[in-house]
Amino acid sequence: MSEQIRTRFAPSPTGSMHVGNAHTALFNWLFARNNGGAVVLRIEDTDELRSTPEALDVIYGGLKWLGIDWDEGPDIGGPYGPYIQSQRLELYEQKVNELVEQGKAYRCYCTPEEVQQRREIMRAQGLPPKYDSRCRTLTEEDCAELSAEGRQPCTRFKMKQTGNTIVNDIIQGEVVYDNNLCGDPVILKQSGFPTFHLAVVVDDAAMSITHVIRGAGHLPNTQIHLQLQEALELPHPRYAHLPLILGEDRTKLSKRHGAVSVMEYQELGYLPEAMFNFLVLLGWSPGDEQEIMPRDEIVSRFSLEACNKAASVFDLKKAEWMNGEYMKQMEPAELAERVHPWLVAAGLIEEELFGKRWQWLIKIVELMQERAKLLKTYTTWARYFFTDDYEYENRARKKWLNKEATVDVLERLGDGFEALDEWNAETVESVIRGLAEEMGLSAGKVIHPCRAAVTGTTIGPSLFHLLVLLARDDVVARLRRTARLSRDGELAPTGDDADEE
Ligand code: GLU
Repeated sequence: MSEQIRTRFAPSPTGSMHVGNAHTALFNWLFARNNGGAVVLRIEDTDELRSTPEALDVIYGGLKWLGIDWDEGPDIGGPYGPYIQSQRLELYEQKVNELVEQGKAYRCYCTPEEVQQRREIMRAQGLPPKYDSRCRTLTEEDCAELSAEGRQPCTRFKMKQTGNTIVNDIIQGEVVYDNNLCGDPVILKQSGFPTFHLAVVVDDAAMSITHVIRGAGHLPNTQIHLQLQEALELPHPRYAHLPLILGEDRTKLSKRHGAVSVMEYQELGYLPEAMFNFLVLLGWSPGDEQEIMPRDEIVSRFSLEACNKAASVFDLKKAEWMNGEYMKQMEPAELAERVHPWLVAAGLIEEELFGKRWQWLIKIVELMQERAKLLKTYTTWARYFFTDDYEYENRARKKWLNKEATVDVLERLGDGFEALDEWNAETVESVIRGLAEEMGLSAGKVIHPCRAAVTGTTIGPSLFHLLVLLARDDVVARLRRTARLSRDGELAPTGDDADEE
């Protein structure tokens, strides 16, 4: 029987879900799903930073939004639980004691300040600034004396001091670490909590994890994990370290580069399926030029071997472009479902929409579909469909609304529309073209001021189709209101960019 693949996503509950974490979760999920394996969600809260229900909810929410599910975890249980590390402390302590009894780990009484001071000295001497193993050789009497001074020990693991540790990584290849450069890491803190090194090693084995897929930042830790597994006589899982994700200036992705938590992307109006697709292309490619791929296709084509070693750059423009592509491909009715909550939140439309009004919304969504890149865009670019309370942009003011000739055009257009028997794209167009001819103007000289007056902008979808999605009375009222404001000199450009062209 072939081995059952088991991966795990092991976030620390810090209160937000960084895109780097989501990326790791996604790659674990893809690998497991591609191989018919299982995904374990394990919460690593050993960093005294207490896990709160909110921090867990943030993790669940981020994963669910992206459509990443798990087969075992704190919320659904499973055969290897508990899945929260702070509920597994006994197991870690037992393993630490085992190591101490076998002489593979030792109690260390140095304070963090002392360790730090000695590190500085080593650095100044040009030596590797690692823990200097001072407590490795303490006798029982030494320990008793140090305890009597009131010192609380932590426990350190004895790393090998000669030779190399070799990580055979599925993505990064063979990486060789010189054992002489790595000091003895703390595995149990004074507080009785294990460090991350011990807890991951113990749990990966206890939970029968076959593949550890995580960010490249953890690669140097793997030398410790391999040696700990050996000392505890545990099997080595396979390792795959994902490429780092950098900002556009090729530094570590951080707040400076814009949104860094997954949920911020939801708040910005991204579609989860677009974000999913975008994240998977950070470090993986299907081997051809294809970029937009449905989830099922990504799952079936995914492999760790096809992941890049080199860091990937989080290109926000590309994320936005991809989201726009997803929005373009969507059925207008489905897109309207997605856009609707945004409009409700912006106070632009009612929550309960039925029949004709739904159909109307779908038409608006469809009309803007080519242009909108984010769901949220509809609350700004399409605002004028839902309210008379829209801004006149400076470009519209400068080019049309602040010009004397416009007043007459708008008023006559209002009269023409009012006189129509039927309100549809053809009749609207005929009034506009008719007026242009009557006034000896090009059609644009009527179309553009009309758009500027009715929408406040200079760009947008086909004006004739846009106008008929508005009530005729509203259009006439907007034309007259704008004509009046223009005549009264109220539509001069405003603000800082008033003089810019
Ligand atoms: N809890 C660790 C982190 O959030 C992950 C540890 C691991 O994947 O081995 O970085």
